[in-house]
Amino acid sequence: MTQRPYNFSAGPAAMPEEVLQQAAAEMLDWHGSGLGVMEMSHRGKEFMSIAAQAEADLRELLAVPANFRILFMQGGGLAENAIVPLNLSRGGTVDFVVTGSWSQKSAKEARKYATANVIASSEADGHTTLPAPASWKLSADAQYVHICSNETIHGVEFHELPDLKSLGCDAPLVIDFSSHVASRPVDWSRVGLAFGGAQKNLGPAGVTLVVVREDLLGRALPICPSAFEYKTVADNASMYNTPPTYGIYMAGLVFQWLKRQREGDLTGIAAMEARNIAKARLLYDFIDQSALYVNKVAENCRSRMNIPFFLRDESRNDAFLAGARERGLLQLKGHKSVGGMRASIYNAMPLAGVQALVSYMRDFEKEQA
Ligand SMILES: *Cc1c(COP(=O)(O)O)cnc(C)c1O
Repeated sequence: MTQRPYNFSAGPAAMPEEVLQQAAAEMLDWHGSGLGVMEMSHRGKEFMSIAAQAEADLRELLAVPANFRILFMQGGGLAENAIVPLNLSRGGTVDFVVTGSWSQKSAKEARKYATANVIASSEADGHTTLPAPASWKLSADAQYVHICSNETIHGVEFHELPDLKSLGCDAPLVIDFSSHVASRPVDWSRVGLAFGGAQKNLGPAGVTLVVVREDLLGRALPICPSAFEYKTVADNASMYNTPPTYGIYMAGLVFQWLKRQREGDLTGIAAMEARNIAKARLLYDFIDQSALYVNKVAENCRSRMNIPFFLRDESRNDAFLAGARERGLLQLKGHKSVGGMRASIYNAMPLAGVQALVSYMRDFEKEQA
C-alpha cells in the first residue's frame, strides 16, 4: 500500500493506520456475528463485550485507580464545560486557571451555573507561560479548581499537575485533558475529574471520556439533564441512553493498539510518552536553531502534542502550506485566533512524520535564503 500523507490536524486528527485497517476489515461482520458494530444493539452481548473491553483496556493503560469511574459520554469537551459545573459546582464558587482559549471558554460557560473565579491567568503574555501554582489565588470555598492541562491552540502544557493539597486546598482538581490524554501518564492522586473529547488522541469525534472520583458522584444540581448526570451515567455503565457505540468501538481498537506499542523496555503509555518526547524535541530543536521559524512558548511549558510556530516572514505562509501539501504534509495551518502554523503530533503521528516535516521546513528555509 502506498504511503498515506502525514496529517497534522489538531482534531479530529490522524488515527493509527492499523486501526483504520482493522475497522475496515470488520465493517460488515464483526467477529462472525453477522453484524457490523454500527448495527448492533448497545444492550446486546456483542456490544457489551466491546464496551467492557474498551473500559478495561483504558483503565489498565492509564492506571486509573479503582475508586475512579470511567464514563463514555457525548457532547465533547465543550459540553463538559457545562456538565462539570452542573455536576460539581453545587451552584457555588468554582476556580479557573486561564492559560489559553480552552480554559477561557470553560470559565465563561461555568458562569451560567456557578460563580466562576479566574484565580490566575497568562493572558498578559499571550498565553506563552503557565502561572506558578503558588501564585494562584485559590478561593476558600471553591467546589473545584479547573485547568486545561494541554492548551491545544496556544501549545502550552502542564508537565506536572498542580498538587492542590500542598497549597492548602482540599477542592478536587478538574482537568480538561482532551488534547493530551494517553500521551503520558496521569497522576491520579492529584485529580478529582478528567474529561476529554476523543477526537484528538483516542478515536473519532462523538465520544467524550470522563474519569471521575467516586465520591464526586451524586452532587448534581436539580436542573442537570439526566443523561448528563455523572451518577446516572455511572450507575448504568454509560448506557443510560444509547452511547456513541461506533466511537467506543474505534477508541477500543486504539486502546489495543496502544497496548501493543513498544519503545525499548517500555510499553503502552510509557512507550508513547518516550516517543512523544522524542518527536517534540526534534521539532522544537529544529525551530529554535532556525532563522525563519519561531515558537513563542516558554520552554518549561511547551506542549508535546500541539506545536504552534510562525514564519518570521509571514508573507511566505501560503507558499509554505502549498509546498507542504505537495510533500504530503497536511493540515499545518495555525488556528485562526493565533495565525501562523501548528503541527499537532498526537500518538498516531510516527517519528517519521515529524522527520518528514523537519526535512521540508529545512528545505523551505534554504530556498528562501
Ligand atoms: C478540542 C478541544 C475541546 C473541544 O472539544 P469539542 O469536542 O469540540 O467540544 C475542548 N478542550 C480542549 C483542550 C480541546 O483541545
